[in-house]
Amino acid sequence: MILFSLIGLSLNLTAQKLTVDNSDFFYQIAPVYGFKQSILSLTFDDGYITQFTVALPLLKERNIPATFYIITGNIDSVTKSIISNNISNDYELGSHTVTHADLVKIGIEDAKMELLDSHSFLHRNFGMNAGLTMSYPWGIYNSSIKQIVKGIYLAARSTDVGYNSFDKFDRYALKMQSFDKRTGTYRANPWIDFAIKNHLWLVEMIHGINNIGYSPIDSRVLIEHLDYIAKAKDKIWCSTISNVIKYMDESNNTEVKCELCTDSVFQFRINDFLDDSIYNQPLSFKIKVPSSWDSITVSDGIKFTTEYDNKSKFILFDAPPDNREITVRPKSISVPGKESGIRFIYMSSNPFHDYIKLTLEVLDQQDIDIVLCDINGRLLSHQKEKNAIGVINLNFDTFGVSTGVYFIRVNSSGGGKIIKKVVKI
Ligand SMILES: [Zn+2]
Repeated sequence: MILFSLIGLSLNLTAQKLTVDNSDFFYQIAPVYGFKQSILSLTFDDGYITQFTVALPLLKERNIPATFYIITGNIDSVTKSIISNNISNDYELGSHTVTHADLVKIGIEDAKMELLDSHSFLHRNFGMNAGLTMSYPWGIYNSSIKQIVKGIYLAARSTDVGYNSFDKFDRYALKMQSFDKRTGTYRANPWIDFAIKNHLWLVEMIHGINNIGYSPIDSRVLIEHLDYIAKAKDKIWCSTISNVIKYMDESNNTEVKCELCTDSVFQFRINDFLDDSIYNQPLSFKIKVPSSWDSITVSDGIKFTTEYDNKSKFILFDAPPDNREITVRPKSISVPGKESGIRFIYMSSNPFHDYIKLTLEVLDQQDIDIVLCDINGRLLSHQKEKNAIGVINLNFDTFGVSTGVYFIRVNSSGGGKIIKKVVKI
């Protein structure tokens, strides 16, 4: 004889862990770090001393990262020691070749040497994260130069005027907006506004500062501009060229794999399958969690924020895609109250007729979605009730369903959720 034993799942952590339909596990990788609208990368060319003695302290005070494109053959011991003491993940050292040569004019072999030698000099002297990107001297390049650059660098900045769109940009000819000695903040600050409004990646190029170097700007102009950037930081992600490129490459390659996703725990791995010694930029994630989860904790001391969107609950956090295991769990699970608008009344089985009868009460008119699935989340039966209201009776045909453990899940468009375990003996 076929028997059904019915066990109502009580909603607390001592309840048995259930493997529910994995399609419930929803995640999103932010197009831009921190779910910001736009990106800004400040770049300084030629390695003039005031870039490090004047600009760098101003940047650091405001926590604004930047990329410095150095002519490695020109670097003196004073500049080198200042750089060594200040270099960090936020302050990138890129290549501007060895001698600031016109790469198109000097011939392929010499161009290769300029690009390779400056790259290895930066790597050797300033670590793995130096020399990952470059900028073309005089902004001069052609397709064969680009080809060589592709073999050595992750990206290259041109002097072509414009903005870079997230989904379609030439990483070996990044466009920019240029500061020269006549550029005031009345001209430069609107670049920031434009990038934010249009969701673009703005790259700025600066040369000399305070009478030193090519077309120098006054540090007062720089201060005014940096203050303007600092105020817009919640809308624009300020980062180095290489970290932006890493973010894009990682997010395009990242897979989030759920290892154990139940009603009381999410355990998953984030992996981009790239070399973690270089691709170390954290990505920003949004993960949907059951709205009944309270006092959520995330493993590894990962900080997160909670967000609601039409009664769905999400957590937002940053993590590097280095295949570590991340566990999200609630300290408590709240019992759905009346506000979810759906209430379980009765579930029975009839061993003689091979069906399960389910009775629900829908308090506010809404759509109801009822699913019968097996322990692996495989869907066996599915029913939808549009605009349901009042007491609803549903029958689940279980004829031919083999013995084992099953779950009935009820989701309502109002955010209500009911799970019942059914054992067919
Ligand atoms: Zn230059």
